Amino acid sequence: MPGFVLFVFYVIIALAPLGLSWVAGFPRRPLMDELSSALAMTAFAVLLLDFALSGRFRLMSGRIGIDHTMRWHQLFGRVVLVLVIAHPFLYTLPIPVVAPAWDPSAAEYLRLDGLGLITGALGWVLLITLILSAIWRDALPLSYEAWRLTHGLGAALVAGLTALHAFEAGRYSGTQTLTWFWAALLGLAALTLVYVYLLSPLMQLRDPFRVTSVKRIAERTWELNIARRDGRPLSFRPGQFVWLSLARHPLTLRENPFSIASDPGRDELSFVIKEVGDFTKSLGQVTPDQAAWIDGPHGALVLPDMQEAPGIGLIAGGVGIAPLLSIWRHMAATNDPRPSVLLYGNRAESQIVYPDELERLAARPGNSLTHVLQEPDPGWNGEVGFVGPASIAAAFDVCEGSENWVYLLCGPPAMVHAAETALRARGVPPANIHSEKFVYD
Ligand SMILES: Cc1cc2nc3c(=O)[nH]c(=O)nc-3n(C[C@H](O)[C@H](O)[C@H](O)COP(=O)(O)OP(=O)(O)OC[C@H]3O[C@@H](n4cnc5c(N)ncnc54)[C@H](O)[C@@H]3O)c2cc1C
Repeated sequence: MPGFVLFVFYVIIALAPLGLSWVAGFPRRPLMDELSSALAMTAFAVLLLDFALSGRFRLMSGRIGIDHTMRWHQLFGRVVLVLVIAHPFLYTLPIPVVAPAWDPSAAEYLRLDGLGLITGALGWVLLITLILSAIWRDALPLSYEAWRLTHGLGAALVAGLTALHAFEAGRYSGTQTLTWFWAALLGLAALTLVYVYLLSPLMQLRDPFRVTSVKRIAERTWELNIARRDGRPLSFRPGQFVWLSLARHPLTLRENPFSIASDPGRDELSFVIKEVGDFTKSLGQVTPDQAAWIDGPHGALVLPDMQEAPGIGLIAGGVGIAPLLSIWRHMAATNDPRPSVLLYGNRAESQIVYPDELERLAARPGNSLTHVLQEPDPGWNGEVGFVGPASIAAAFDVCEGSENWVYLLCGPPAMVHAAETALRARGVPPANIHSEKFVYD
């Protein structure tokens, strides 16, 4: 429901410029010209709204989850791309060198000269480049941090150019109501950047953390522990994540999202981190007492309340165990009476983290643990293959009423998709399945 309400709110704001232009009462122009202006104004509103969907705002990601937030961000970006590409090609009216004095409402010509033309052309090319470079980010020879910087600065530049173009060349954007509307949305977009790149780091500066320990716990997998310098525990819900930086100060682009794997009752925050790229492969060089900074907690993949869920199904793929571990640890620490079952998929046995602790957690009344391996060693007597219908049946067939449980899934996109499909086929309502994929791409 909150997602639906947010979506309706977004659609209303995105379409508001059309309503405001309509009530301005200008003489009508040919249909294609009105359509072109309508597409451009809608695209501009959606572009400015997309700044708030960067995943950093709990108002959004705390309600609909980080996966949905980023999906919306990407979807809206693609909508903007299509609308903007079409915009200049739909106009039919002429562009006079000198605007005719007898037609102040620009009903029979396009007001496109000097600044309006330059800002429009530059904004058009830059916006298309910005969105295409986000869609094909993996193919670019840029680090994630460099791409993120160019994406943020590029978006701000496009917003500025488009605003100038709209005020200079737009027929409707110069009206008083639309000027205020654009000013409000531009202000909001600018505030999101100021918050993410300045205010949030400054707030982190007042809340320093330090590394307490770091150790390898499985193949290419590390446990990192941090704590507040003043010893206070961080308040979070089991399953949430933070943006973590181990730089000397928090005014840095080098920050990565990681799920908290520990129970909220502890003073330390514990992370389970898999080696992937620059940062995660450098964890071996991290030393105790090194500075750590966090932005969070964020995310909506959390332990549901008693009334919402009579039982909890946890399905993890690889390092996707991290948030589910926090949930399982918390259920044990608080003596949660609900049955909970963990299905944990890995490629090889050497990738399983905390095998003994997982066995202990599985021994609680009503709990059970099923491992599934793609490449088991000889002698393995657990499930073999991928997380899918067979391993889900092996883990949950014995649980009475498990179609009414709530399921929390975390792992690679293909695993999450396979598990969602298998759960739905078992009669679990989609509203009872929550997931996080760890990748936005
Ligand atoms: C909500 C969430 C929770 C996560 N929790 C965990 C966890 O508990 N344990 C774990 O091992 N991994 C987790 N990840 C994945 C982890 O963030 C990436 O593996 C890590 O950031 C890679 O950084 P790198 O510098 O080593 O690799 P890079 O080569 O720089 O990045 C590899 C990929 O990681 C992603 N990535 C890198 N930096 C960022 C960033 N600042 N913001 C968003 N995505 C980024 C991008 O998709 C990138 O292509 C999580 C991801 C998300 C989105």
